[in-house]
Amino acid sequence: MNAAQDTAPVIAVEGLTRTYRLGGGEIAALRGVSFTVEAGEMIALMGPSGSGKSTLMHLLGCLDTPSGGRYWLQGRDVTGLSGRERAAIRNRQIGFVFQTFNLLARQTALQNVALPLRYGGARRDATRRAGEALARVGLADRLAHRPSELSGGQRQRVAIARALVAAPAIILADEPTGNLDSRTGADILDLLAALNRDEGRTIILVTHDAQVAARASRLLTLFDGHLRESGAPEEAAR
Ligand code: ADP
Ligand code: MG
Repeated sequence: MNAAQDTAPVIAVEGLTRTYRLGGGEIAALRGVSFTVEAGEMIALMGPSGSGKSTLMHLLGCLDTPSGGRYWLQGRDVTGLSGRERAAIRNRQIGFVFQTFNLLARQTALQNVALPLRYGGARRDATRRAGEALARVGLADRLAHRPSELSGGQRQRVAIARALVAAPAIILADEPTGNLDSRTGADILDLLAALNRDEGRTIILVTHDAQVAARASRLLTLFDGHLRESGAPEEAAR
């Protein structure tokens, strides 16, 4: 990594658009979104259903490519990369946490968490590092459990451990508490907040909960594919 990349924002996007073609028509899900994210930030992304939050998260997570605009991840232009190149970036630089956990049902917690390391080629230490990540999320005693043998909150902890294990530049969490009861959801948010506060992990979190947003360092809100930034997330919680 060169000096320019060292000082670059973790994320910079400029004029990002995403248009879905569906049947004969087009849906403009993102209509030109620009912002930067610095290392160590915890950003809450809010907005009504259908406003483009998941679309943006998929673009930031290199799960999808934009229709227009540019995206720099840690100073590198990743806008036009091939599927294979995007997969490599997902493995090393991005941890994604989904509302529906997205764990492999037949694999143990340990195997699920080790998966990104196996794709990344760091085979030798994969098991040890997966165990450490599971310990970090409070699941040191559940390594051999399969998802069906875990509670919803525990499954999301496994997913967070999987997102952490490759020490990515950024963790993207799209409504990570959406399928959890409020008590369990609060625990998961505490965990994400602790990862940000104690380990300086950069996090972008989609949430509908203004109380959650109030704990973020910055609030971004999408309305119909346009971004509105507010520097004071506590405003939203009042
Ligand atoms: P949010 O996460 O804020 O609820 P989404 O990003 O999922 O919003 O969706 C934004 C808009 O794009 C919506 O109108 C949705 O119907 C549309 N959309 C999302 N994904 C697709 C897709 N794969 N194909 C067509 N339209 C889509
Ligand atoms: Mg969504």
